[in-house]
Amino acid sequence: MGFIKNVLKNLFKENTIILKQRISENAYRIKIKGENIKTTDFIPGYFLRVGVGFEDDKLSLHNSVRSYSVWNIDKIDGTMDLAVATHSKGVGAKWIAECKEGDIVRYNWKKGTFILDDTADSYLFVGDLSALSHLYIIQRNLPQSKQIESIVYSSHKDELYADINESMPLNFYELPENPVDEIIGIIEKIVPKMTGKKMVYIGGDSRVCVTLNRYFKNELNWNSKQIKTKPFWNPDKKGLE
Ligand SMILES: Cc1cc2nc3c(=O)[nH]c(=O)nc-3n(C[C@H](O)[C@H](O)[C@H](O)COP(=O)(O)OP(=O)(O)OC[C@H]3O[C@@H](n4cnc5c(N)ncnc54)[C@H](O)[C@@H]3O)c2cc1C
Repeated sequence: MGFIKNVLKNLFKENTIILKQRISENAYRIKIKGENIKTTDFIPGYFLRVGVGFEDDKLSLHNSVRSYSVWNIDKIDGTMDLAVATHSKGVGAKWIAECKEGDIVRYNWKKGTFILDDTADSYLFVGDLSALSHLYIIQRNLPQSKQIESIVYSSHKDELYADINESMPLNFYELPENPVDEIIGIIEKIVPKMTGKKMVYIGGDSRVCVTLNRYFKNELNWNSKQIKTKPFWNPDKKGLE
């Protein structure tokens, strides 16, 4: 293993996978447990940089780490859940398909700005399978009084899974990859129904993030503070962040 990769591996926290479940044709859930989770500072939207390729000497440093959002955290039990999609078929997809209960997971915390913001009255959530767990934890942690609208899509609707508490608070659509025109058509119907101060979270495919960011800014004249976007993957790149 390369020197830097080895140093990084030793700096990462170590937790154990205590549960692995297939939650749809192309997504797995894992629950990890560790004492350090009990004392961690956490805001919904924080994510992990997971060492998915530390054990494979042939993988570069860039190809050894992938980002995954925290779907749920239980600080009393010291557990966290992640939901990982496998459409990419890359090192991250291979790692989630092959890992098993009892395995060690190494990770580092990342915070960013794609996190819970409860200052709006109405929210629109837009994203694909890779961003679903991230959208769920933000939505679940907003007060009940907030108006929630959503467009969560996949080319196979049955790949989209329920939230960790079995609820289905978001609206699912069967749409092809990069369906910006279809999404804008749906947004045009939803936005007039949104009341008070509005906010949108857009996560997943970078092409959708970029186009919708521009649309909300330039066509709908939303302030940049109302638009939260985070590209999770890019068709021309491997891994992001
Ligand atoms: C902040 C952040 C949080 C994230 N949280 C999650 C999460 O909770 N769950 C999750 O599943 N993913 C999440 N991702 C995305 C995840 O890190 C990437 O999907 C991951 O890099 C894919 O890794 P890979 O090694 O399998 O494929 P890579 O080697 O990175 O990519 C291989 C190929 O697959 C393509 N690709 C990547 N993702 C997809 C996709 N979803 N659909 C279609 N093609 C794809 C790439 O463009 C590339 O061509 C997050 C990303 C970021 C930046």
